[in-house]
Amino acid sequence: MTWDYLIVGAGFAGTVLAERLASQCGARCLVVDRRDHVGGNAHDHYDAAGVLLHTYGPHYFRTNSQRIIDYLSQFTEWHPVDYQILSWTHGRFWQFPINLNTFEQLLDRASTEEEMASTLAEWRLPILEPKNSEEVILSQVGHRLYEMFFENYTRKQWRREPSQLDASVCGRIPIRTNRDDRYLSEKFQALPKEGYSAMFARMLRHPNIEVRLGADYRAERANIKFKHLIYTGPIDEYFDHCYGPLPYRSLRFESETLDQEFFQPAMQVNYPNDHDYTRIVELKHATGQKLPVTTIVREYPEDFGPGKEPYYPVPAPDARKLYERYAALADVEKGVSFVGRLATYRYYNMDQVVGMALAEFEKLKAALPANAWPETSVQAVPAVEL
Ligand code: FAD
Ligand code: UDP
Repeated sequence: MTWDYLIVGAGFAGTVLAERLASQCGARCLVVDRRDHVGGNAHDHYDAAGVLLHTYGPHYFRTNSQRIIDYLSQFTEWHPVDYQILSWTHGRFWQFPINLNTFEQLLDRASTEEEMASTLAEWRLPILEPKNSEEVILSQVGHRLYEMFFENYTRKQWRREPSQLDASVCGRIPIRTNRDDRYLSEKFQALPKEGYSAMFARMLRHPNIEVRLGADYRAERANIKFKHLIYTGPIDEYFDHCYGPLPYRSLRFESETLDQEFFQPAMQVNYPNDHDYTRIVELKHATGQKLPVTTIVREYPEDFGPGKEPYYPVPAPDARKLYERYAALADVEKGVSFVGRLATYRYYNMDQVVGMALAEFEKLKAALPANAWPETSVQAVPAVEL
């Protein structure tokens, strides 16, 4: 048979498009993913001890978009969380992101918003338009706090100087003079109540959608007939690295189950200056699971290479220049949509990827002739256990 859409990747980008095209247009969608599960990097699972873990690092859902909340709420209920993290350096835990509590820890006495604001005004460097991740922090808090919390964490995570990364990388982290101690600032912060994998399974459970797991597009494409391709994998791989490989950062996750209810005082502790790992995540704090045991995950940044996952595009001018050459090829590639974090080489959060996929859906739908697939409004496709 000829599929209306072949969708490469069952992460947020591919899944949202499959769900929309199948349910709203009656299109027949084949989703392939080379991993053995759906959800992409947002996949979660229960480990041997019964602890719910985010398989590829902590995925804290947050958004300011009511449209995206409404869309995903068709497939999940939510467990609200105020994501809270700490930073460990100089032999103690610090409130992080930097706020009035952090400032009081630094002074070792009580303070006020006014005192913090006037002190930061003295400490910060007069950089009006920060051009990189070093400048964006120095322009807000000056050298002392930059060196304590940002400089070495960023070097460890990216194996680059902060000055060689876009301002948006460290600029993601809020800096506050009040006592708001949430890691993120978006108005909606919650996890899918039964986990991401359950949500993805619901999104893909449609008679017009077939999912093939452990299936690599490059190996399968010769045997699949389709009208339009939706590609959510790495863009340089799609074009056989013809301009050379794009840089990515990879990670190694080491988990440890402990016979105690909790290991650390917060869901996530960052280690800017100690150890080879950047953070220890104890997701149980966020999921609210009640168990006598716990599992922690240490996250080690690694270079990308054979056998490694391309977790992070590198937000930097040199990488963007190379990406733009690939983007120019993508622009003239007929019958293909490039969607998602890897296909558009953007350090995007989940909600931004959902937004991008919904926008692409509107574009594809608008381009369809009226009543595009009258004969195929519901196709019997074998159900897949996801
Ligand atoms: P992906 O989830 O990467 O999905 C792409 C899929 O395509 C993959 O499953 C891959 O196997 C498949 N694929 C690629 N090539 C092929 C091929 N040739 N054949 C078959 N399949 C292929 N976002 C947040 O909002 N909050 C967070 O807290 C957060 N934390 C994160 C932590 C880490 C460590 C990482 C890496 C990311 C984090 N993100 C977070 C970002 C989030 O993971 C992404 O925004 C989102 O998952 C991207 O979805 P996607 O569909 O674009 O890509
Ligand atoms: N960062 C840092 N110190 C920290 C936390 C973050 O320097 O304690 C910097 C680092 O460069 C990191 C970026 O801010 O890559 C974004 O952090 P975030 O926690 O959002 O990273 P993610 O969860 O996307 O890996």
